Amino acid sequence: MSFIKSLIPQKYHADRKVFRSIYSIIIVDLILLFVSLSFVPVFLFIDFIEGAYIMFYSSLAALGYFLVLNFNKNLTTSGNYFVLQILIICLSMMYFTGGISSPYLFWLFCICPVSFLFFKEKIALFWAGTILVSFIVLATAQIFGYPFEQQLTPLVLNITWTISFIFGVLIFVSTFRNFQIGLSKVNQQLKKTNSELKNSNQELERFAYIASHDLKSPLRSVISFITLFNKRYKNQIDEEGQEFLDIISTNADQMQHLIEDILEYSKSKNRVLKKEKVDLNKVLKQIVSHIDSKDFYLDGKVQVSPLPEIESDFTIFKQLFQNLIDNGLKYNHGHHKLVSVQYLEKETELYFMIKDNGIGMEEAYFKKIFEMFQRLHTKNEYQGTGIGLAVCKKIVQNQGGKIWVTSKLNEGSIFHITFPKSILWSEKSKEQIKDKNLLGVEI
Ligand code: ADP
Repeated sequence: MSFIKSLIPQKYHADRKVFRSIYSIIIVDLILLFVSLSFVPVFLFIDFIEGAYIMFYSSLAALGYFLVLNFNKNLTTSGNYFVLQILIICLSMMYFTGGISSPYLFWLFCICPVSFLFFKEKIALFWAGTILVSFIVLATAQIFGYPFEQQLTPLVLNITWTISFIFGVLIFVSTFRNFQIGLSKVNQQLKKTNSELKNSNQELERFAYIASHDLKSPLRSVISFITLFNKRYKNQIDEEGQEFLDIISTNADQMQHLIEDILEYSKSKNRVLKKEKVDLNKVLKQIVSHIDSKDFYLDGKVQVSPLPEIESDFTIFKQLFQNLIDNGLKYNHGHHKLVSVQYLEKETELYFMIKDNGIGMEEAYFKKIFEMFQRLHTKNEYQGTGIGLAVCKKIVQNQGGKIWVTSKLNEGSIFHITFPKSILWSEKSKEQIKDKNLLGVEI
């Protein structure tokens, strides 16, 4: 065993995969070398000169493999040399057994699909290509009358042909079966991994929900006591103490926002959606009046085009548009901040566009901003948690829609949303909801 180990260049010892592959090929080769060398005298003895030649070339090829392995320090895969070696053996067999009409030619073709299963694709392609070239060379030689002599007797030839054929069929069948078995195994594994992933995802979401939910009330009491402390002892603490208190208060507020956003995110997936008539004009009206009531959006304006009535859940649509409009005003330095909400009914979908004249962003971030906790700015520049757009994405996807952004730095951003037309409110939805009410199902 240590002899075989010593044959493998030291640098491949660390990579277990390469090491094992070279190791197994060496063992196969040693057996080949031993068998072919012992058959040379046997074939010579029974006067089967061609057989002796074939065995002689086989052993040369096997020896060649060891030489290459020992001297070529750039070897990255032993497979290439193994393929070359088998090719030399097969070609020598064909040369001595009738050229193009050799029964072994069939074997060469049989090895092709097998090599695709066992070797890397590149090696298998190289293998198939070489066989094709050899086939063309042999055929051309035959056409131009090169005398490949068929040294085998008709009986031996027939037996070899029959065995070749049976083995060929077996190889094809087993290759196909292996392929099928492999495929179904991969499928099973995939299903298992998928369900495991789903479970762990659900667990994580549950964890996020429970953790943020349980953190909410102690944090609320921390904030209340900070406020109380501030009120009662404001005059008794010095400037530095006040500064510390402000830092504590700001951080507690940030934490509260974060917890609320995480809660919203985990709720957004599992929330049981209401099926009600939602007039999006009313949704936007509420949002706009809420924004108007806040003094930090004094220089902001929201323009809304007529919107449709849909069959969905009022709260989640309010949350969706609120997040996007808030962002349009928040990430905006302009003196006349403007966010416009436009709507277009297309042939197969409903299309919404939320456009702002804010700071915009580079194309590299178009996808990233929809991921959890992804922010392009620090908390000192803009307040936020990096969850709002992830929630928007969840809401849109849960309704079978899509959301994406296009933007230009310093010019503004456009958030595009599409929904299937099936969410439009129609007389049919009215009937369906009525039916459900009659059945006593809560909606
Ligand atoms: P948050 O606003 O709490 O940071 P969001 O998920 O809503 O989280 O947004 C993620 C990031 O995407 C923001 O931090 C901001 O950098 C960027 N962003 C979102 N909306 C806009 C917008 N309208 N214009 C420019 N950048 C935006």
